Amino acid sequence: MNSALFHSVLRERFGFDSFRPGQLLALEKLFESSRLLCIQPTGHGKSLLYQLPACILPGIVLVISPLLALMRDQVDQLSKRFGISAGSINSDQSEEENTIVRTAAMAGELRLLFLSPEQLDQLDRFEFLLTLPLSLIVIDEAHCVSTWGHDFRPAYRQILQLVKAAEQKMPDLKILGLTATAADPVEKDILKQLFSPERPGSVLRESMDRPNLSLSVISARGSASKLLLAEQIVNGCDGVGLIYCATRENTETVARYLQKKGINAIAYHAGLDSEEKKRIQQAFIADDFTVIAATNALGMGIDKPNIRYVLHFDIPGSITAYYQEVGRAGRDGLSARGILLYDIQDRHVQEYFIHSAVPDAEDFDKVLEMGDSPTLAVIKQTTGLHPTRVNVVVAELVEQGFFAKERLKGKQVYRKTEKEGKPDLSSYDAQRKVKLRELNHMLQYAKEPHACRMSFLRKALGDDTAPACGHCDLCRPSNAPQLIQSEIDSTDRWLLENPIPIPAARMVGLSEGISLLDSKQRSPLFVRFMKTRQEALGADPELLEILRPHLKKGFFKAIVPLPSTTWKGRDALAKAIGDFLEVPVLTDLLAWKEPHEQRQGTLLNNDQRKLNVHKKMEAAHTPPEGPILLLDDYTGSGATLKEAARALRTAGGKELILIPLAIATVKWRLGHIGFI
Ligand code: ADP
Ligand code: MG
Repeated sequence: MNSALFHSVLRERFGFDSFRPGQLLALEKLFESSRLLCIQPTGHGKSLLYQLPACILPGIVLVISPLLALMRDQVDQLSKRFGISAGSINSDQSEEENTIVRTAAMAGELRLLFLSPEQLDQLDRFEFLLTLPLSLIVIDEAHCVSTWGHDFRPAYRQILQLVKAAEQKMPDLKILGLTATAADPVEKDILKQLFSPERPGSVLRESMDRPNLSLSVISARGSASKLLLAEQIVNGCDGVGLIYCATRENTETVARYLQKKGINAIAYHAGLDSEEKKRIQQAFIADDFTVIAATNALGMGIDKPNIRYVLHFDIPGSITAYYQEVGRAGRDGLSARGILLYDIQDRHVQEYFIHSAVPDAEDFDKVLEMGDSPTLAVIKQTTGLHPTRVNVVVAELVEQGFFAKERLKGKQVYRKTEKEGKPDLSSYDAQRKVKLRELNHMLQYAKEPHACRMSFLRKALGDDTAPACGHCDLCRPSNAPQLIQSEIDSTDRWLLENPIPIPAARMVGLSEGISLLDSKQRSPLFVRFMKTRQEALGADPELLEILRPHLKKGFFKAIVPLPSTTWKGRDALAKAIGDFLEVPVLTDLLAWKEPHEQRQGTLLNNDQRKLNVHKKMEAAHTPPEGPILLLDDYTGSGATLKEAARALRTAGGKELILIPLAIATVKWRLGHIGFI
């Protein structure tokens, strides 16, 4: 009965001629039964399922979505292109901006309000939402509520409470869950959590097929081979592409490498500041770059229809994540490619991510043992746990009633309640299993010969039947790309010679410096250095060779190696550098005044590392004037280098120029002993 109305709004407001498969049915179901879960592939047009109702329903449509980037786009697009007044409240915006949106919502000036689930953490936000005349609550990426899903987010649990509270107040409220990925158990779980037996929800599922996507996998060993393959692929594809990397460092390396080869590439990850991110995204959408190397921070739902290929530089952590990410190619329906570079070593990074994200019983105990009403920041410092885990554990403890959220002197704190006993952790065991299974599924996609890649993906995502696509690399095998050994060698060399900056620490007078080898690259040279650093061997000639181009002759006045009880090769290396630069090596200038209690690698996080070395070094005499090269074997948190700078400046005054040189950079694991 609404169908004519839906059609006319589609044409008049959105300027689309017809609905895509399943869209009309979904709208009808939503208006008829008010509770709906809709599973449609990425790019299918799920947003229309709430945008169109927003033009028809009275009051406000509230959309909860984890995708900040998408919110920005949509809010712009909705008001400019479709004339629908929309706003968003999220942490990427200033408090003033958020307040303006809140005021507009209360004044009845908004049809659509976007919100990130973390906003529900704040009690006052939660209560504010319940005062609005809501007609429809949309849970975008609804699989995030399920611990059976690949991408469970604890913040999503709060949505359930909001839905329940809103349902009580507003009897006509409609609830719509949207996701591209919910295989059977996840679908059942979402239904159970989101809807109640009194008001059960129905499900509509579209086929996961993406007929315009041609999938392929290329085996690769090591970063150099992958970089060369990436270069070939970028040069061989027309149009704009997206390269997904597992880490921020890799996005930088890939972008720098491609830039060096004359390709207009850029890196994107969550470590960039929000202005920069905004700028890069907009430029990417406007086709200003040939290719963007990004982590999954460049996220779900980015509405760029003409991405011609999605290349995975590293294997993603789950088959579902892969489907979503590769699905960003060819949303315009024209042919596009999805290519995965597969190096068997990559699974370790993903296994590490799984282990850092899923907390265990010990983590819960640590947080429960905290004293009275700590803030989140205090919990992180005291427990030394990985920050992601702290977020998960605290959210769970609130959910299970062991903690209560309260405001104390303007801060949000977590008060321990009277509740006795132990929290129920069964869902975390389940989640660990799900994540490992999803990773294994991904590995199978990459390595095990099966009939068709698209059909494998579709079945993994819940399609019952999926005939061969006819155009993936298994349906239509072609020759694997060839790499030339000398090119691999020279790329290896480029990786090696590409030192990592050590940031300046102005407070202690440390200038910017470099560290030569990246533990991430696991080069033979790095492995050898770390293995032999405890032996009194002469300096490694290969190491010296790549070090020399970075040493400026006539600039430094002295070399000061950092004191170390375990680095036995220290003096030989310092002497070799001293000979090359023709400057003295002041071996005994710095010493540990008192032995620090623990080695940095055995501590849990960087706050603990700083405490371990702070004010423990001493300079035996006044250091010479002029730039000093501070030599260290490897650096992680930077705390030891900063302590050395502090001690030297205490003895030599504020004018001292100190430039750090570390042979390697390691990345400490957070909340765990050792480095990644
Ligand atoms: P999803 O959320 O399912 O990944 P989106 O809602 O972001 O996908 O939609 C992807 C693109 O498809 C958008 O550019 C949207 O405007 C477009 N679109 C949606 N429905 C239609 C339609 N019926 N006709 C034409 N284009 C559509
Ligand atoms: Mg979407």
